[in-house]
Amino acid sequence: MKILQKIISKPQKVKPGRRHVDSNREIGVITYLFLFLFLAMLVYLGYFTRVKAPDVINSTYNKRQSLLESRLIRGDILSREGNVLATTLSDNDGGYYRSYPYRNTFAHIVGYSTHGVLGLESMENYTLLTCDGNIADRISNDLAGRKNHGDNVVSTLDTAMQEAAYDAMDEKKGAVVAMNVRTGEILCVVSKPDFDPNEVIGRWDVLSESEDSVLLNRAFLGSYPPGSTFKIVTALEYLKEHGGNISDYGFECKGSFEYKGSIINCYNEQSHGWMNFDDSFANSCNSSFANISSQLDKKRFADTLDELLFGRDLPLPFKYSKAYSDLGVDSSTDELLQTGIGQGKTLISPIHMLMITSAIANDGILMKPYVVSEIQNTDGGVIRKTRIREYGRIIDETYAAGLRKMMREVVVNGTGRRAFDTQGYDISGKTGSAEYSSNKSLSHAWFTGFAGTDEPEIAVTVIVEGGGSGGAVAVPIAKRVFDAYYNK
Ligand SMILES: [Zn+2]
Repeated sequence: MKILQKIISKPQKVKPGRRHVDSNREIGVITYLFLFLFLAMLVYLGYFTRVKAPDVINSTYNKRQSLLESRLIRGDILSREGNVLATTLSDNDGGYYRSYPYRNTFAHIVGYSTHGVLGLESMENYTLLTCDGNIADRISNDLAGRKNHGDNVVSTLDTAMQEAAYDAMDEKKGAVVAMNVRTGEILCVVSKPDFDPNEVIGRWDVLSESEDSVLLNRAFLGSYPPGSTFKIVTALEYLKEHGGNISDYGFECKGSFEYKGSIINCYNEQSHGWMNFDDSFANSCNSSFANISSQLDKKRFADTLDELLFGRDLPLPFKYSKAYSDLGVDSSTDELLQTGIGQGKTLISPIHMLMITSAIANDGILMKPYVVSEIQNTDGGVIRKTRIREYGRIIDETYAAGLRKMMREVVVNGTGRRAFDTQGYDISGKTGSAEYSSNKSLSHAWFTGFAGTDEPEIAVTVIVEGGGSGGAVAVPIAKRVFDAYYNK
């Protein structure tokens, strides 16, 4: 207080002297003290709003969120073309409710805003409840007691591809996921069975307790045996161990392969006859791939799985299942052969399979996948934009080129022929029929592939649970999604 009085009562003109020096020093100390406190406050505020607040507010059981909801109109979620995927509407009683115009089509990726929010509603909860609109408008709305509008989230999702994938899956269980291999933009995410997010409040008990796990996003959280799609990885390992040379390889398939007491059968016990490496891959011959696997170095194979992020964290901005493989130096011969043909204990999510496929298509470089392209305020002004980022090289460029050639052969001459008849672009990929029942009678149908005539642009991964043959069931679904991208 005394110091304050000294400052206030500071004379206009002060004669030079000791007292003048003292009070200047005091003013200096006070100034620095206030400046320090002010800066400290700014730093903490910055830290809180950037680091802490999104977590605090994204916790959907937080009271702060409902307070924000009561003061703000939750922002919209849009497709890449600007179609409204989620919006807030007012009801007749002056209240508000969340509306999802595309109903079931975007259910898992857009999610819902109640009951422990899911999908983009969850990932961007903080953004949707933050207003970066014009400050004068915000103040005038506040003064008039009107609600401000939260920021809008523009996603990378392509409406035509999403609808094509959703329709193609029909009543089947499973997932479809697609991305741009050069940018990492996620273009569509479908998981079946699905639900209508407009009905989440009314039907919560039924949905959350469904035996089919209706609310589970299988594209990210599903964990499946990869079946023959894994032959991509086995082929890569062979390329690595042989310096890219596959011309010396030949094998006579008689429908099954026996090695050190293990027996591996071809799909439907078909005999493929004499084949080179490309034929073995195109026809998805289990016997030939068991023969290939028997020659591989377990330690190096396990290292390759590590490079492809098996058992490791994925660079993804959303929840996912980690891939699993038990292959190691101590693995038995049977485990090695089973792994080599995609059976055994190996498990992978559709999004991870898509990332490996995308890296092959993109010369071995994996781009970081993302679903939010930019954040806009209610006037359409861009608040922030997601930068395209490389995760890094996960496959040697030469081997990626070798795999692309093999994957094209699958469609031209092999199990993926149903993807051959395209207009203006080419599809390449690998099918899979992954056995999952103990009597080996049931299998999941897989297809993972990319398209683009010279430089691949997009990749699509499809799994149909219990669908049977990948070539017959999964390939036609993938083709419809590719067509939706190229034939707009
Ligand atoms: Zn065979």
